[in-house]
Amino acid sequence: MLIKDSVNLTKAVKSIGIKGRIIEGEDLKKHTTLKIGGEAKYFIVPFDGEDIAKIINFANDNQVPYVILGGGSKILFPDLIFKGIVINLNNHFFKKIILDKEYVKIDAGVKINELLGWMLRNRLGDWEFLAGIPGTLGGAVRLNAGVRDLTEANNYLQIGDFVKEVTVLDKNGKLLRLDKKDLKFDYRESNLSNFVILQVILTKGEKKDISHIKKRINNFLNYRKKTQDLKSPSAGCVFKNPGNNKSSGELIELSGLKGKRIGDVAVSKKHANFFINLGKATAKDFLTLMEYVQRKVNYDHGVWLNPEIHIIRNL
Ligand SMILES: Cc1cc2nc3c(=O)[nH]c(=O)nc-3n(C[C@H](O)[C@H](O)[C@H](O)COP(=O)(O)OP(=O)(O)OC[C@H]3O[C@@H](n4cnc5c(N)ncnc54)[C@H](O)[C@@H]3O)c2cc1C
Repeated sequence: MLIKDSVNLTKAVKSIGIKGRIIEGEDLKKHTTLKIGGEAKYFIVPFDGEDIAKIINFANDNQVPYVILGGGSKILFPDLIFKGIVINLNNHFFKKIILDKEYVKIDAGVKINELLGWMLRNRLGDWEFLAGIPGTLGGAVRLNAGVRDLTEANNYLQIGDFVKEVTVLDKNGKLLRLDKKDLKFDYRESNLSNFVILQVILTKGEKKDISHIKKRINNFLNYRKKTQDLKSPSAGCVFKNPGNNKSSGELIELSGLKGKRIGDVAVSKKHANFFINLGKATAKDFLTLMEYVQRKVNYDHGVWLNPEIHIIRNL
């Protein structure tokens, strides 16, 4: 039977019977790079995939919304309370990295900087382009994280090109293995929006000299320092680049919006597609500034910018 009142729902959540931890009223600001958000009604740190399957089934049976949270670097939570379950994979239970002959099996909760540290220790190259991208591998694969390479060719490097297989739970909590032919990666997107990514198999990079790997990592990090606003909390780029020859950042800048501020959210003066939290920013201010920028850019350039950031709303 559907549980409608909050007290009984809390009792029911606590009796799902998982091995992980359930926290009531966790402050979501602590878990996002933007430092915006209210509380999660239920914040769950699962121990394993079985825990997550139980939570999914509970959520389905009781029509409770749930959200997967990785490193929180591309997500905006509502201000007051998220009336659902946040399943946090950025925890110490989802951190294994297993080196195989040709592949590397990596848990979804491994953070990108942890992965790069491991890569350096094992002298494996090829994923240096991920340097400086905050968040977890699960989030990176879900969003097909990537950057331009720093060569004349200006090629695009994306994690999706290295994914061989992904272990996921589907909407019914069923464990599935999806291999390359089942997977689709586009610009900042994948066909994994209806799954919880548990583990990823990446093709192993070439054995390389450690100084070569370090140099490449530093090149990517230095480029970020030069071009991105890394001193204030943000979620990286707010809007996807439109498919024309100008980036969202260029269009916002051409509209004269660098520094535009609503409440404590401002368009970065360094990178116009970054919105920064000046201290006490709210989701309401963030969304208002997004809409203001969308309307102004549309008015000036006839282009409607689509969000890259994932916006979580209460139903
Ligand atoms: C300073 C800065 C610079 C950045 N630079 C870049 C860049 O160069 N390139 C780039 O691509 N991105 C960049 N980003 C954005 C962000 O870091 C990436 O998109 C990152 O991959 C998001 O991972 P996350 O774990 O933080 O995801 P979260 O923010 O936690 O989640 C984002 C979305 O993915 C889903 N998700 C997360 N984990 C899982 C999982 N295991 N299974 C299923 N769904 C999941 C969430 O439900 C949510 O919908 C930047 C962000 C910042 C703050």
